[in-house]
Amino acid sequence: MVRVGVFGAGGRMGQTVCQAVTADPELELVAAVDPFHAGIDLAQLGVHGTGLQVQASPQALDDAAAEVAVDFTVLEAARENLGWCADSGVHAVVGTTGFTADDLQDLRKQFDVSRANAVIAPNFAIGAVLMMRFAELAAPYFETAEVIELHHDAKLDAPSGTAMLTAQRMAHASKEWAPDPTETIALENARGAALPEGIHVHSVRLRGLVAHQEVLLGTTGQSLSIRHDSYDRTSFMPGVLLAIRAVQHRPGLTVGLDALLGL
Ligand code: NAD
Repeated sequence: MVRVGVFGAGGRMGQTVCQAVTADPELELVAAVDPFHAGIDLAQLGVHGTGLQVQASPQALDDAAAEVAVDFTVLEAARENLGWCADSGVHAVVGTTGFTADDLQDLRKQFDVSRANAVIAPNFAIGAVLMMRFAELAAPYFETAEVIELHHDAKLDAPSGTAMLTAQRMAHASKEWAPDPTETIALENARGAALPEGIHVHSVRLRGLVAHQEVLLGTTGQSLSIRHDSYDRTSFMPGVLLAIRAVQHRPGLTVGLDALLGL
């Protein structure tokens, strides 16, 4: 039984993680932390059977002897929570997005000397991780590629981090991309945005969608489409549960689910 605490327990992802951990017979939810929802019973958030209340401070994880902390909060809070985990010897599984290369370098140093480990994954949907890997594998066999990401209409940034990473990994996997023949643009950005290598990225925002991406690759007489759809937040849970189980056995900092999936 792994004892798990959740940072951001009152948030959309945090609640889903609390439910997933509670439903897993090998995991025990022992603490829920969220200063903006402190004092609320988890049952009120749809997480039944724990008898826990949301607490304001990470100390709750220490008091409950949590072995692994899961963080889905905001960047500034996640930085602090990770520091607390490294200092307190509590393993960390982090889904909060936005860490810079400098952040990751600092965290690598912190977790190298901590008795705790950390897994940070910008995308916990196993299918999305596989989609990126498949696109990277396919890249050298095609000369033209377009990445189309489709998200709900409340998403503030474009393109998605996953679309950027997919295009970058494909560009890294092959340098042989055909030039764009377009000479006349009747409507600005009609061809989306493009990496210097020539892979185009398009962002669709549509009410009713969650998170979707299609990678189109074309060569002589054929095309390949690789598509992933996240229909709701439960799509991230198999990846989160995998990381909770794996983090204790992966010294230092691990970035991305790829290594946990053996990719
Ligand atoms: P949200 O706004 O619903 O939840 C964030 C929660 O964090 C809020 O309840 C807030 O009160 C809480 N919080 C703020 N400061 C805190 C602190 N110091 N300690 C504990 N809790 C604190 O947001 P969300 O939709 O749940 O997303 C959270 C993060 O997860 C975002 O960065 C989002 O991009 C990311 N995300 C990652 C993945 C992935 O696969 N890695 C998937 C979905 C979302």
